[in-house]
Amino acid sequence: MTNLNVSCIQRFSTGDGPGIRTTVFLKGCNLKCPWCHNPENISPAPQTLCYNTGKKITYGKMMTADEIFDDVIEDIDFYRESGGGVTFSGGEPLLQSKNLSELAKALKDKGISVLVDTAGCVPWDNFEDVICCTDIFFYDYKTADEVLCKTVINADKALILSNLKRLIKENKTVHVRIPLIPGFNESAEECEKIIKDLTESGVKYVDLLPFHRLGSSKYEAMGLEYAYKNVTPPKKEDIEKIKSIYEKYFTVSIE
Ligand code: SF4
Repeated sequence: MTNLNVSCIQRFSTGDGPGIRTTVFLKGCNLKCPWCHNPENISPAPQTLCYNTGKKITYGKMMTADEIFDDVIEDIDFYRESGGGVTFSGGEPLLQSKNLSELAKALKDKGISVLVDTAGCVPWDNFEDVICCTDIFFYDYKTADEVLCKTVINADKALILSNLKRLIKENKTVHVRIPLIPGFNESAEECEKIIKDLTESGVKYVDLLPFHRLGSSKYEAMGLEYAYKNVTPPKKEDIEKIKSIYEKYFTVSIE
């Protein structure tokens, strides 16, 4: 029986793919985005967040694929009625692709839609583990700049791009998700570079995710300094401007 390192399971998610979904957040990430909204999911070790209200929440426990299956299957009627399903997010869920494959297959066999939300910086073999039973990939594309990719988020652009191209070549449904991070990737010039990579890869759908600071209380609760605590989220008109740049090439939504 395989085990997965689960951070938390969130029912009735409406922002993690089509319809009503259960999102299973897997713990552990190989990137280090300084704006990360889910810092509790980066380390694979269990962590207790102590909020200044006195509330404490522990993230991280090993669960068998069967335990997770029994948990998420409870809402099967909601998935069917709404066109929803189960989303695996993180962290980076594909760091646990071997163990995830058994669970994803079991869900698929029940006719439940499976979505994997990945940053794409893993060997192609990890995609192979789940590709047959994944209906949709949410695929982060944070920058087209190789150096920024390496130095700011600890990622390998060449690997991310080659996995993206291969997924599209294999006719998978891929929604590219671009976080709009002030000072990092929201200038018109950066957008054009990202667009070039994505059009060359055959991308059709792009979701823009404007930066917000909702995760900052988590940093406090972890006793960490949030590098983006004083960064102002982009204004509505700036988001619309960026959207209009991307819209010339892709179907765009703003999350
Ligand atoms: S890839 Fe996602 S989970 Fe990992 S550090 Fe970046 S924003 Fe956080």
